[in-house]
Amino acid sequence: MNITSSIQAFEEAQTLIPGGVDSPVRAFKSVGGTPLFIEKGEGAHLYDIDGNAYVDYVQSWGPLIFGHRDEAIESAVCDAVRHGLSFGAPTLSESELAKEVIGIFESIDKVRFVSSGTEAVMSAIRLARGFTGKDDIVKFEGCYHGHSDALLVQAGSGLATFGNPSSPGVPVDFTKHTLLAKYNDIESVRKCFEDSDNIACIIIEPIAGNMGLVPADKEFLAELRLLCDAHGALLIFDEVMSGFRATLHGAESITGTTPDMVTLGKVIGGGMPVGAFGGKAEIMAKLSPEGPVYQAGTLSGNPVAMAAGITAVRKLRSNAKLYSVLEARAKRLMEGFAEAAAKHGIALKTDVRGSMFGFFFNDKPVKNFDDAAASDLERFAAFHAGMLSRGFYFACSQFETGFICTQITDEMIEATISAADEVMGTL
Ligand SMILES: *Cc1c(COP(=O)(O)O)cnc(C)c1O
Repeated sequence: MNITSSIQAFEEAQTLIPGGVDSPVRAFKSVGGTPLFIEKGEGAHLYDIDGNAYVDYVQSWGPLIFGHRDEAIESAVCDAVRHGLSFGAPTLSESELAKEVIGIFESIDKVRFVSSGTEAVMSAIRLARGFTGKDDIVKFEGCYHGHSDALLVQAGSGLATFGNPSSPGVPVDFTKHTLLAKYNDIESVRKCFEDSDNIACIIIEPIAGNMGLVPADKEFLAELRLLCDAHGALLIFDEVMSGFRATLHGAESITGTTPDMVTLGKVIGGGMPVGAFGGKAEIMAKLSPEGPVYQAGTLSGNPVAMAAGITAVRKLRSNAKLYSVLEARAKRLMEGFAEAAAKHGIALKTDVRGSMFGFFFNDKPVKNFDDAAASDLERFAAFHAGMLSRGFYFACSQFETGFICTQITDEMIEATISAADEVMGTL
């Protein structure tokens, strides 16, 4: 496979942009090699600037549940563009998307739109603090909630991959209100409440996707709910990745635990920059200008982005069977990987939630970040390179989740399994 143009483009980009990328995980650092520069996407496929095609299991890190260049989303965006790119004034489109979100998530009475998942989480936490009058927050090792200061404490994904516990540039004072607990370990959360009587909220990815795919146990989430209620803290589900991905009505609909607030991103923008946070009316009433907790954004609720989001969410809502179809494909893919691994004597752990799938080169079940970190990263890197050279584009880190889009066919899944079998034979 010839990737000369990507190699050249990456060399130039590195002289212009730190590391050559605008978001660290794109740089392929944890697997080595050169990131591919993309010219276009079409359906399930990505095309790099050397003209190679790949079946895309990254889908822009989640947002593109209908694949690249979905006709309905594209035409809604083009229509919106012809009315103007931005007004800084209310539009009907914001209420339309709000109605969709409120109708879909039982826990959400009111919602506010922002431009990224980072903003959504940062704002939800400010609101939780404003609402409760408390300062401390509890987060879990391996969960990623965007790159705001207080949350860069042993985050997963890019940071875990690079092995940094937190980032320079974040004053210790800014993270001293962030308590770290262990995912799926209720004792570690109880300890946080013993150490502090000042906890405003627990924030969790109920289906973690940023240490690889590690869903929370139902019982664990139920215990978090009880602890929050007992201590007057809010429970926030960060569903920036899992929202509209694992299932339509949110993790609350499949885990049986209802959060006080939910943060959304990725799929909700249909490929455009949209984030959102919502929750109970009495909590959301504290948000400016209705209440005193300040939050704002020049491009928040941008009409072009709203148009993409409305179209994507309506398509999901009107197609009830979609999640079971996507889940069946994800399950078949993981089943095929597991069979290939067993055949070649390779330890592999797999899991699926709706259109999300994950696999760890690991011989033990993965329940938290320590488990995930014990995976064979060299083996992952070799597998990644082998699949890429055969035309299958997987996330370039062991600590990421894979995504099935509606454009991925059963034939593509079978071809991917055959390639995985071949690659595992070489590991
Ligand atoms: C991607 C992600 C974020 C951050 O969203 P951005 O749009 O990248 O700022 C926050 N939380 C979770 C769970 C995510 O997966």
